[in-house]
Amino acid sequence: MAYASTAVHACIVRAMDMTGLGTERLRLVETDAEGRISLAALEAAIAADRAAGLKPFMVVGSAGTVDIGAIDDLEGLADIAAREGITFHVDGALGALGILAAQVAPKLKGIERADSLALDFHKLGQAPYDAGLLLVRDAAAHKRTFSYGDEPYLRHAERGLAGGEFWPCDFGPDLSRSFRAFKVWFMLKTYGLDALGEVIDRACDLARALATEVEAHPELELLSAAGLNIVCFAYRGADNAAIAADLQEAGRVAPSTTTLAGRTAIRAAIVNHRTEMQDIAALVAGVLDLGRAQTRRR
Ligand SMILES: *Cc1c(COP(=O)(O)O)cnc(C)c1O
Repeated sequence: MAYASTAVHACIVRAMDMTGLGTERLRLVETDAEGRISLAALEAAIAADRAAGLKPFMVVGSAGTVDIGAIDDLEGLADIAAREGITFHVDGALGALGILAAQVAPKLKGIERADSLALDFHKLGQAPYDAGLLLVRDAAAHKRTFSYGDEPYLRHAERGLAGGEFWPCDFGPDLSRSFRAFKVWFMLKTYGLDALGEVIDRACDLARALATEVEAHPELELLSAAGLNIVCFAYRGADNAAIAADLQEAGRVAPSTTTLAGRTAIRAAIVNHRTEMQDIAALVAGVLDLGRAQTRRR
């Protein structure tokens, strides 16, 4: 059995199917009021499964849930994984690079204990699609999983084109593949980690400013502000999916939507280093205009 919270990204659900284990082997555990996995419910689920003769093998923590950017208690999850003797994977696609930002890093405590960590450079990392990255602690197990070095046409050699120990195709499902790492390397060489950290800090500052703006307008309701780069809100009594679609088609701002506690939320995920306070103001003004027009018509 694998475990994750109900807020986990669908990539984990898909991975369970793609590995052949199946989604019925994934236990989704309830979250607390802040959207983080409930450690008590997780421990109870593991104990119940063991009692039923099932074998727990992995727990997945979210370092930034996709809907609101909640960060699971990674230290607590690492402790449980160690105690249970199971693998600890962290989905940090959204927020792991927050380790570079002073205001986010403390919330990620425990991430360094993960057995494997997925993160995306094409979100807060400012790289163009696609630039996903997976770090695996046990290099030998990683290579054993994917290497087909015994094939005669893939045999490592002492020298020549097949020379060298490290072959990227030994560490993932792709054989022929593009040099995705190049754009990440290039960006880090050009701007450095400090600049990236500043961009992430600024994105979180802008998210906080948006939450403050939303709270200043009684027509708007703040639905989430988890302290990362995502803020969810709604215009009271309006069709918020229509508001988001109208804004997207107008092209000035591009919020997405999600569902929180059964309600449609306008979701602002601030990632771009060019986003400024005037863009935040344009989003709020746009939602107010469209919400007012909708509710006036009724
Ligand atoms: C975006 C995201 C993913 C999916 O990653 P892609 O690299 O975009 O496919 C997985 N998990 C979380 C938490 C995400 O935010």
